[in-house]
Amino acid sequence: MGKKQFKAESKRLLDLMINSIYTNKEIFLREIISNASDAIDKLCYLSLTDDKVGLERSDYRIRITVDKDARTITVSDNGIGMTMEEAEKNLGVIAKSGSFKFKDDMDSDKAESEDISIIGQFGVGFYSAFMVADKVTVISKAYGSDEGVKWESTGADGYTVTPCDKYTAGTDVIMHIKEDTEEEIYGSYLEIWKLKALVKKYSDYVRWPIVMDITRTEQQPSEELDKDGNPVMHNVTVTAPETVNSMVPIWQRSKADVSDEDCAEWYKETNRDQTDPAAVLRVNAEGSVSYKAMLFIPGKDIDNAASGAAKKGVKLYCNGVLIMENCDKLIHDYFEFVRGVVDSPDLSLNISREVLQHNRQLKIIGQNLEKKIKGELEKMLREDRPKYETFWNNFGIHIKCGVCDEYGRYTDFLKDLLIYYTGEDKQVTLKEYVDNMPESQKAIYYCAGDTLKQAMSLPQCEDVRSRGYEIMYLTAPIDEMVLQQIRMVDGKPFINIVTDDLGFQTEEEKKAAAEKSEEEKELLDFMRDSIGDENLKQVVFSSKLVSSACCLTTTGGVTLEMEKYFRVSPSEEMRKIRANRVLEINPDHPAFRAVKMAYDSLEKDKAAKLSKILYAQAQLIAGLELEDPAAYSDMVTSLF
Ligand code: ADP
Repeated sequence: MGKKQFKAESKRLLDLMINSIYTNKEIFLREIISNASDAIDKLCYLSLTDDKVGLERSDYRIRITVDKDARTITVSDNGIGMTMEEAEKNLGVIAKSGSFKFKDDMDSDKAESEDISIIGQFGVGFYSAFMVADKVTVISKAYGSDEGVKWESTGADGYTVTPCDKYTAGTDVIMHIKEDTEEEIYGSYLEIWKLKALVKKYSDYVRWPIVMDITRTEQQPSEELDKDGNPVMHNVTVTAPETVNSMVPIWQRSKADVSDEDCAEWYKETNRDQTDPAAVLRVNAEGSVSYKAMLFIPGKDIDNAASGAAKKGVKLYCNGVLIMENCDKLIHDYFEFVRGVVDSPDLSLNISREVLQHNRQLKIIGQNLEKKIKGELEKMLREDRPKYETFWNNFGIHIKCGVCDEYGRYTDFLKDLLIYYTGEDKQVTLKEYVDNMPESQKAIYYCAGDTLKQAMSLPQCEDVRSRGYEIMYLTAPIDEMVLQQIRMVDGKPFINIVTDDLGFQTEEEKKAAAEKSEEEKELLDFMRDSIGDENLKQVVFSSKLVSSACCLTTTGGVTLEMEKYFRVSPSEEMRKIRANRVLEINPDHPAFRAVKMAYDSLEKDKAAKLSKILYAQAQLIAGLELEDPAAYSDMVTSLF
């Protein structure tokens, strides 16, 4: 029988696939096994109504055999099989069922660059065998048919179909593995360990047993006896068929069968994480999209852990077959720490990353899962605060970034998850802060520092605390931007106690203070000029200080915290941004009186030196580094 040609578009596509595009060649085995599994499904289903099938559920299996000398891998199933017509129809056209329409104007020159993304959009299926094989022989017998069929092809040049003998229903796919090239050692696919690893990786949860002949070394008694008359043990290699897949995935099993602890153990094993997960989420959804999910919130930040940890993103499965190992587009980045699996029969096996973003089912799944994750975190927040605080230390930053992302699109969704320090051992949600406010308090007060200790010891805190108001201490560079994004909680604005007007002074008090500053304007300007820092815009009397001599604040949009944030920016322009500094002086403090005395008694050098010392102190308290610490030290010691 002469060679038949593939349909024109199939031929081109086949060429494309075999020769250039699909870099992930190892998926061929997954594809062939999935077909075998589908074929068994079909026969098993038929046997429910047809007694003549004569097979028990436990009789079905997929068998992989290797002949190294002949360089073949054979995947056999005892499924429904194909008639000659079916073999021609099913194996003669690529992507027959897909919605994909091959672009008419595509030529193979352009193909490599432009159309690479196409390949992921439809079932590569059976043809992926040609990525590793230069000849594929399919021997099949359809259930109920008298005759078998042999289909054979060496790739794009066409195929032959001939009748053949086959005793039982089912299909053998025999792949003649290509010779090794410089780029690719095709021969590695002939290694049992390699095939076994590929089954584990992609097809571990295929419902039917995948059987391979595995050779092991065993200790067996020999004929020889030792001095006590017991047989001497010796090593023997034994080759026996073994089922290499685990078949039922843990997430497919019912909650009654598998405890959360079992799931946690499984998580630790598969993610190489020794820490128990902080939470296990199990979802079994049925509706417009059906799926099962088993998600984990890790107990520690495994992204930063030593290599070997699982990559970010969840694993996507379709009926137990792995589609994508680390699908990072299912769940937004603010929950990127979540690990686990999502398994949905509604997904197509060959979904590419590009297509994924627009896949409606996946969008729905992603949204639902995010709600569940948030629900779980809120529960932890309510019921186990220490655990939540650990979670927050590990992953809070992702949620903060999420609040600021995409112009605040997710702010509302995420803001209830934020917690901030209001004391050494106390962290509160924004809502708890507001609920705790005394009636007289009109705003949410916060200040920022590099560490909690530094923020708590800012001189501006004293006055606020003495009024019985709590202060939120921000310690991450992004925190201020997070609050700016949220803007208000229950109508209460945020006030930065370092830079903003606290609103504590009456109009009269403000007027009196302004007059006092005016009276001493000459001295205050002298102080500013003698300090001589171009970023210092003003020296003023403070209304925020109680017992401290001075503090540093800013005017304008850029605060010291933002400045610190910009200083590490990749953009040189951004790194140059500086906050406009204001030195606030406590007019009732002996330190100011000393400056004034020196100034009034015309000891201008001394007055200038004291001003510089005050400025340096204000900078230190604000967590800034001094440009010239040695000069500061000299100035201080010269006072003794
Ligand atoms: P898909 O599985 O996405 O339909 P494939 O190219 O993998 O595309 O396979 C094409 C068709 O060939 C299958 O739909 C099936 O009808 C048939 N087929 C492939 N392998 C087998 C098999 N082992 N047993 C029976 N039929 C098979």
